[in-house]
Amino acid sequence: MSARLNIAIVGGGIGGLFAANALLARGLRVTVYEQALWIGEIGAGVYVTPNAVRHLESVGLGGAVERWGARVGPESAYFRHDGTRIAPVQVTDAAGWNACFGMHRADYVGFLAAQLPAGTIRTAHRVIGFEQTADIARVKFADGTVAEADVAVGADGIHSELRPHVFPPSNPVFHGTISYRGLVPRERLSDWPMDRWQMWAGPRKHFLVFPVRHGEMVNYVGFVPTDEEMKESWSAPGDPEVLRSEFRGWDPRVGQVLEQVDQTFRWGLYDREPLATWTKGRLTLLGDAAHPMLPHLGQGANQAIEDGMALAMILADVDAAGAPARLLAYEKLRRERVAEVQLGARKHGLRVDSMVDDLTKRDADLVAHAEFRRQLYSYDVVPYAKALTS
Ligand SMILES: Cc1cc2nc3c(=O)[nH]c(=O)nc-3n(C[C@H](O)[C@H](O)[C@H](O)COP(=O)(O)OP(=O)(O)OC[C@H]3O[C@@H](n4cnc5c(N)ncnc54)[C@H](O)[C@@H]3O)c2cc1C
Repeated sequence: MSARLNIAIVGGGIGGLFAANALLARGLRVTVYEQALWIGEIGAGVYVTPNAVRHLESVGLGGAVERWGARVGPESAYFRHDGTRIAPVQVTDAAGWNACFGMHRADYVGFLAAQLPAGTIRTAHRVIGFEQTADIARVKFADGTVAEADVAVGADGIHSELRPHVFPPSNPVFHGTISYRGLVPRERLSDWPMDRWQMWAGPRKHFLVFPVRHGEMVNYVGFVPTDEEMKESWSAPGDPEVLRSEFRGWDPRVGQVLEQVDQTFRWGLYDREPLATWTKGRLTLLGDAAHPMLPHLGQGANQAIEDGMALAMILADVDAAGAPARLLAYEKLRRERVAEVQLGARKHGLRVDSMVDDLTKRDADLVAHAEFRRQLYSYDVVPYAKALTS
């Protein structure tokens, strides 16, 4: 038994930074290597749900979630594109715990990084290669240096440099949709309700608004069809006028937000078919590197948090010799869960884009969808991970 397993995490996004917190909380040695010159994020929101919040709390970040997040409550709802209310949005787990928050992505990575001891994160470290022996993992950087560890974790996102070291390159699946994303300050939307998540589901498009940073701004996302393929999740400046024209004639509340948009960014929507494996020897993957998914359940980052928690539990009491077997156990545990969520995200996207024959049935499905969310949010990876190590 060794409490000093040495772990190299590649990628300082939400997934890598949370994993570092969870592994350190169990006494392991961790270094995060991030290619960027500093830890930061784009100006957009992310929805944080109870299945992740329980783990953020367990590593001492519950206060930061409350401080930086904007809790959304029972007035959250789905609407048809003309503003007709369809159904409430589930904002609690099965126990009635309301822990759904809108979060500014920069705030999120900011507090995940701030809790790590000085020296844990090495910025300006771009990984360009990997090799391993039976005893050691070696991560190679663009500047020619190499870091050695007992375990390497690729948390380097949808374009992962490390993924080809566990599985042959595979094609991303483009879903013919781009999303326009951005933030609008509260002052410019004086009467906007800051206590709810709201989505308008229209023909082949949908529009989402939720508050972030304790209600200081709202995050909007407009999903529209396109024939133009974009690089996976590549964000590019978008034209606010084009965005406005995409949603012309919708509920005036959508127009109210869009009128205030000065700057917007476009993202292509991709996921991947599940990888046959995401672990090889001393290397495993986490978050989007392992299982990119469509954003229609708002679960990509939440699933990365579950990954980090599972990994920390599973590696907590193992020595270097036993680590590869534990990495396989981690992958097995996570594979089933994320496959269900990936599939659920695809299905839900068809509903909210109204890609169905019968809108009355779609509306009934959105009411029934609350149960899926209740289950999704109630899941706790900890007992499953514990069972694998006992
Ligand atoms: C439109 C849209 C809306 C979304 N909304 C939500 C939501 O509401 N809720 C939710 O949970 N998820 C949402 N997601 C998904 C979520 O953004 C991702 O699942 C999440 O950010 C993945 O985190 P990650 O840490 O795995 O990867 P990333 O956030 O991509 O982080 C990867 C990190 O690795 C670094 N890196 C990459 N390559 C290298 C290298 N070679 N060397 C060193 N460092 C490297 C990068 O610089 C980056 O910092 C959404 C996605 C989209 C496209």
